Amino acid sequence: MISENVKNILNNVDAARAASYYSNQPISILAVTKYVDADLAREVMENGITNIAENRTELFLDKYEKLKDLDLTWHLIGSLQRRKVKDVINLVDYFHALDSMKLAGEIEKRATHRIKCFLEVNVSGEASKHGFQPNELQEVLPEFEKFNNIEIVGLMTMAPFTATEDECATIFKTLKKLQVEVSNQNLKNVSCKELSMGMSRDYQIAIREGATFVRIGHEFFKGVDLKY
Ligand SMILES: *Cc1c(COP(=O)(O)O)cnc(C)c1O
Repeated sequence: MISENVKNILNNVDAARAASYYSNQPISILAVTKYVDADLAREVMENGITNIAENRTELFLDKYEKLKDLDLTWHLIGSLQRRKVKDVINLVDYFHALDSMKLAGEIEKRATHRIKCFLEVNVSGEASKHGFQPNELQEVLPEFEKFNNIEIVGLMTMAPFTATEDECATIFKTLKKLQVEVSNQNLKNVSCKELSMGMSRDYQIAIREGATFVRIGHEFFKGVDLKY
């Protein structure tokens, strides 16, 4: 079942990329394994996926311990409480939810090497969503020039659950535009070449709009009893 799901996702990603203006960009497919235990997560990875993502510190640490024999790239994608930064940040290859300068300060303090981070941007303006407002970016970005342990590799966003396909496309286009603007500023520690956007229901739209990292959960586990 999982091997079928993986095959379908790979096919869908290829098709969406081929239909995209950005068709020559590499795309990292993240398997979001928060719904399943380490054994099912392992099954996904053994079918050729190499990027694993968790949204909570506890789940991240559990999978990290149980799957450390595999050669994986580790992503933390959910909001991170400042008091938990020290437990996890040095194990993470990419952190996708940098949403405040206070959190950035804590990462700078606790990291023992440069951590690749995405700035989370609240493009939709939904009150329940984390992230910087688009118009805050110009103000906060220069602050990253003073850090030694943070590299802003890109921007991340989530579309609202109720958004239509057109609304998702508009949100993803806006994030793409912001990413290009930021990247063109050539600020120190802010390369900002990547875009983390798209989940199970909207990753094909996100890829058409230039996503380079898609975060896919449910779609990997269709037909499987979910644990969480
Ligand atoms: C759970 C989660 C996903 C994956 O969602 P699906 O709808 O299951 O694909 C992506 N990004 C974040 C931040 C998540 O928490």
